Amino acid sequence: MAAAVVDSGKRLRVFFLPSFALGHLIPMADLACRMAAARPAEVEATVVVTPANAARIAPTVTRTAAAGHAVHVLCYPFPDVGLEEGIECLGDAAAHDAWRVYRAVEQSQTIHEPLLRHHRPDAIVSDVPFWWTTEIAAELGVPRFTFHPVGVFPQLAMNNLFTIRPDIVRGGSASRPVSVPGFPGKEITIPVSELPTFLVQDDHLSMSWDRMKASQLACFGVIVNTFIDLEQPYCDEFSRVDARRSYFVGPVAQPSRSAVHRGGDGNADCLRWLSTKPSRSVVYVCFGSWAHFSVTQIKELALGLEASNQPFLWVIRSDDSNSLWAPAGWEQRVAGRGMVVRGWAPQLAVLAHQSVGAFVTHCGWNSILEAASAGVPVLTWPLVFEQFINERLVTEVAAFGARVWDGGKRSERDGEAETVPAEAIARAVAGFMEAGGQWEKTAARARELAERACAAVNENGSSWRDIHRLVDDLVQARASGPETPQGNPVNV
Ligand code: UDP
Repeated sequence: MAAAVVDSGKRLRVFFLPSFALGHLIPMADLACRMAAARPAEVEATVVVTPANAARIAPTVTRTAAAGHAVHVLCYPFPDVGLEEGIECLGDAAAHDAWRVYRAVEQSQTIHEPLLRHHRPDAIVSDVPFWWTTEIAAELGVPRFTFHPVGVFPQLAMNNLFTIRPDIVRGGSASRPVSVPGFPGKEITIPVSELPTFLVQDDHLSMSWDRMKASQLACFGVIVNTFIDLEQPYCDEFSRVDARRSYFVGPVAQPSRSAVHRGGDGNADCLRWLSTKPSRSVVYVCFGSWAHFSVTQIKELALGLEASNQPFLWVIRSDDSNSLWAPAGWEQRVAGRGMVVRGWAPQLAVLAHQSVGAFVTHCGWNSILEAASAGVPVLTWPLVFEQFINERLVTEVAAFGARVWDGGKRSERDGEAETVPAEAIARAVAGFMEAGGQWEKTAARARELAERACAAVNENGSSWRDIHRLVDDLVQARASGPETPQGNPVNV
């Protein structure tokens, strides 16, 4: 249906509320910018964040605002949960403080409620854990959208696995393979040890799962950072069972060489270094914003990359880099061939660089979506939460990657995974990249996905259409009056 045109003085004020993890904050800011840019006459986007998280997204927001689009930041105080000042997300907190970040998520309810009542936005796009925003939106008579920074394949898998959680919890061995029930397409099996903890033991997420789910089903619609061609049958099923309205709008990141400071203070030297390397020769190694490695694992990885004989660009989180172990002379031996970035890499720009041939990734959703969009095949090394599920999409369904290691105990649970030995890493990396290795096939598939991702966000592509449909639905909703949430009442 054609949308009524909104007077530019009466743009829809859409508030975006990301939770406290960079893998959520970064794509939510990207989405806000995309919506403001897609319908400048109709959308005024405001990203509602805490101060340190505002600094993380400032470059993205500033660039979009400088291009003349209506995007702003509104700050609220980070809840006092005993974290040092300036530590406001999982990526910045030490591993032993992660529980404080989860507590801050819960405590932000009492801040969000008065803030939203005071500002009375025309629509709320909020992160999955902020289940209470469905109720506030209903009270204000405006639509609430749940934003999923994670794709549909892992969401459906987790939903369906949750229905058989009692069987999973009851037991059997950690290596027992569990088949994802009710999944479209080929059968996907995952050993218990690789399932997200909340499906196996009680934790903060297992306690709030039903509430988040009810809130998602009751709200106006669900926005997902994915594109349909990446996971079509799963998108169809998701639309049928998991959302009143669904919008697949990704990839929301704009692949750009200028996005050096997206999400952090990106190291630009590595881009200059990449330019000295032959086309498609460099293996980029990065494990996202918050996963930690043991000192032993870092050492094995250092030795494995050395023994692979491949050029590599390896990102080590700044708090892990103090524990970088390298045998005497390691840095000298790999000098010229390998570069280590301590801290934050400009990942989008790295993946867009023509010298990058493969990506060793922990399979965070943003990373695999960014790899697919850049046409870079991946070597998978999942670490936590839904990453083992994402790995199955990459290697078994979309077929643009291969596993780094299958040889020993892999586990999602802290301290339970076996260390991946240097020889296995060297073998996987060298074997993947060598002529006749898996690189050619997976790279061809990755290039195909990149073309489709690009087509999806370009004019009249599926994601482009979904962003416009979303704005049209908002305009329509405003014209038709207050929105009533559906489905099961949310337990507040
Ligand atoms: N990222 C980056 N530089 C880094 C590490 C991560 O730009 O050095 C970005 C990456 O491009 C992605 C996000 O941070 O957009 C990480 O999200 P992902 O879902 O891949 O993993 P998470 O950090 O949530 O585990």
